[in-house]
Amino acid sequence: MSPSDKDLGLYVHVPFCRRRCHFCAFYLEIAQPDPMALFHSALTQEISLHRRQESLDGRCLQSIYFGGGTPTSLPADQLAAVLTLIRTTWPTDDTAEVTVEAHPSSVTARDLTILADAGFNRISFGAESMVDKDFASIGRFGRVQDTAAAVQAARLAGFTNINLDLMYGLPGQSLRDWIGTLESLITLAPSHISCYALTIEEGTRLAQDIARNLISPPDDMLQIDMEAAAERFLAEAGFSRYEISNYAKSGYDCRHNLLYWTGGEYLGLGPSAQSYLHGIRFGNVADLGAYASCLNGDRLPMTNRTILSTSERQRDALVFGLRLLRGVPRKTITVAERDRQIDELIAKGLLDADHDLVRLTSLGRRYADTVAEQLF
Ligand code: SF4
Repeated sequence: MSPSDKDLGLYVHVPFCRRRCHFCAFYLEIAQPDPMALFHSALTQEISLHRRQESLDGRCLQSIYFGGGTPTSLPADQLAAVLTLIRTTWPTDDTAEVTVEAHPSSVTARDLTILADAGFNRISFGAESMVDKDFASIGRFGRVQDTAAAVQAARLAGFTNINLDLMYGLPGQSLRDWIGTLESLITLAPSHISCYALTIEEGTRLAQDIARNLISPPDDMLQIDMEAAAERFLAEAGFSRYEISNYAKSGYDCRHNLLYWTGGEYLGLGPSAQSYLHGIRFGNVADLGAYASCLNGDRLPMTNRTILSTSERQRDALVFGLRLLRGVPRKTITVAERDRQIDELIAKGLLDADHDLVRLTSLGRRYADTVAEQLF
């Protein structure tokens, strides 16, 4: 399903994890009762301020997404209460997609029942790998077998739309390990799978270990082989690749993420959350103390606010739209001598086109940002 112009999403960033994985550069705090209580009361105030300011103009939400961090670091009844508050604050479509991210090793069957009963209808587990040694190499807590137990418990709780996040190109991970992970995951029958190539972010533990020559950086060629193996393997298992990193069974494309890739609008709540509303992009401060202090003073915790020009909007439509396998309409491409430029990229094997749509080839997907730059 594609979002219409009227589609609107809400994102809640829950910035807590039990510990930080070695590759992770997201803004987060280690989960402790006091900061979590501070967050909960500040988030409630943020919702109330947006309601008073009528930030959403009475529009109806089509998707709600609790991400992080690990949202399920918060007690399940607290997440349920926040969802209820959101739904009583803003009109929400009866068919809205309501997602919560969860760590398979810390969520209980009781939590899952509370979340499903509260109205979450999609759950996204950070599985990452099904091979034990991979967990050690990325500093992830838990055991790989917890994923199967969590998926089973989620299904018993009533979730039918289940995503599993995976990463490939992990330190020491072989192609065989990766295929083993895909095979194990398929037996769990998820409706959606996200496969992310490991990238090394500045300031992370992995970046430091690479700088000290303790581990090798990801091998590009191996990651290319892993991506190709995932595409083949998941197609055989009935998944369609609809975005560079995302695969879904028919009817299960992630509606919330489609908003980001198609220029849809969304309001972000919580420290570091980003928003795009009325052609304006704005973001919250990435610091829990500063976030709470602004809200205590009855101010929204905004740090940046950019009114996008027509040209910036066109650029975003192209960069994000090209991530989708279906491609973008030719009219999205604004470069001078558009047809000549498209033909050149087709000749290089990077693009494929018909008279309406232009899309990246599998080679082009590896150079998506560079191709987008040449078309803008
Ligand atoms: S669980 Fe997710 S958000 Fe938390 S540290 Fe690991 S990768 Fe980052």
